[in-house]
Amino acid sequence: MAWDFETDAEYQQVLDWADDFVRDRVEPLDLVWPHQQFTPLEGKRREAITPLKDEVRQRGLWATHLGPELGGQGYGQLKLALLNEILGRSQWAPIVFGCQAPDTGNAEIIAHYGTDEQKQRYLRPLLDGELFSCYSMTEPHAGADPTLFTTRAVRDGDDWVINGWKFFSSNAATASFLIVMVVTNPDVSAYQGMSMFLVPTDTPGVKIVRNVGLYGERDDEGSHALIHYDNVRVPNEALLGGEGQAFVIAQTRLGGGRIHHAMRTIGLARKALDMMCERALSRETQGSRLSDKQFVQGYIADSYAQLLQFRLMVLYTAWEIDKYNDYKKVRKDIAAVKVVMPTVLHDIAWRAMQVHGALGVTNEMPFLGMVTGAAVMGLADGPTEVHKTTVARQVLRDYEPTDDTWPTEWIPRKREAARARFADYLEAEVGNL
Ligand SMILES: Cc1cc2nc3c(=O)[nH]c(=O)nc-3n(C[C@H](O)[C@H](O)[C@H](O)COP(=O)(O)OP(=O)(O)OC[C@H]3O[C@@H](n4cnc5c(N)ncnc54)[C@H](O)[C@@H]3O)c2cc1C
Repeated sequence: MAWDFETDAEYQQVLDWADDFVRDRVEPLDLVWPHQQFTPLEGKRREAITPLKDEVRQRGLWATHLGPELGGQGYGQLKLALLNEILGRSQWAPIVFGCQAPDTGNAEIIAHYGTDEQKQRYLRPLLDGELFSCYSMTEPHAGADPTLFTTRAVRDGDDWVINGWKFFSSNAATASFLIVMVVTNPDVSAYQGMSMFLVPTDTPGVKIVRNVGLYGERDDEGSHALIHYDNVRVPNEALLGGEGQAFVIAQTRLGGGRIHHAMRTIGLARKALDMMCERALSRETQGSRLSDKQFVQGYIADSYAQLLQFRLMVLYTAWEIDKYNDYKKVRKDIAAVKVVMPTVLHDIAWRAMQVHGALGVTNEMPFLGMVTGAAVMGLADGPTEVHKTTVARQVLRDYEPTDDTWPTEWIPRKREAARARFADYLEAEVGNL
């Protein structure tokens, strides 16, 4: 029997250290420098944050998603999940631990598909936490269906020239390079006709038209770029993986990205549950504490159960990824996690907000940010509906249709077969009457 839900004592100590460190030293960064995680470190911010990163490195917790050959610890997804659920409490924590999205996914595909030169130029500094990257795939007219993308790269001598528009390219404004998904051969299916390019952000023709902000962010805080690629010329060496490889690469990237978001979401949802419980125990109305009211008990019980289900699902999926070492084999469960994630965060944050009364909906508490975060989880890396169809398709692969008019589990036929099987006994029973 290999099923085991316990963390070994040695790693638990590591997690306990990380938990204290994130609460005491990292969460305050969210309040003094909110929304600035992806702005290159300068001046006082560099002075404050570099020692935190150094401490993480000394503890051996830097970039734990990567193997030792890339400067990480090669923890695997399960250990990473237990760490990430701690980091999920804070916007800054993934940066301080060198494992922030989208850079983790971007690093992963350069590590898998990049040439030695590309790894030297882009991957090394990315892993050192010295620069940021951007994944530029969605287009203004199409996101959920990449086969509709029209941004084109055309060969011109030894170069490629890229033209088109991309939307919601997160962190493009502060990223040093972009990974752009484009059509390189419109005459074959999109699955063979699209490629990825590594494009330095300062390449002539990369025009960031505007940085779109999420609800609640100030106009100058937007970080999701609308980009016009206007005759952007890159050498053939900018191609990531082979020509026509974009879909294969995208699946590698997005599989990892989705499960890492889910790990961090556990931490955020637990933070909301913690706040709900504290408030329920602390506030009195109509003769008793909120925690004595059955409605509120229902909120707590439902939230606890939802979080437990979600956490086990994420840990199980992480375990599967470690076991198979192949995202494709775990596609169904990664998609199922992605489907469940927004609802879990939304429901728990919403109930916690309600239990806090008026204070809950103010900008003095984080709940509406969490609710918006839940909405984002239902879109970023693909909408919930699309992932549901993936789950359903994968589930259906394990089933066969029946030619019969009546389902296999049709009771009259099964009863008849059961009676035939036990006929000797049934006859004896009748005989005894
Ligand atoms: C915070 C955030 C960060 C992001 N970062 C990046 C990034 O860095 N790089 C990047 O390239 N993209 C990024 N995206 C874009 C994201 O990948 C797209 O939003 C997503 O793929 C959906 O595309 P869309 O917004 O164009 O929606 P659409 O494709 O227009 O879909 C809209 C809605 O239509 C419905 N729908 C769509 N397809 C189906 C279907 N097959 N069946 C049933 N219903 C369907 C769903 O309700 C869906 O929400 C980000 C998005 C967010 C919110």
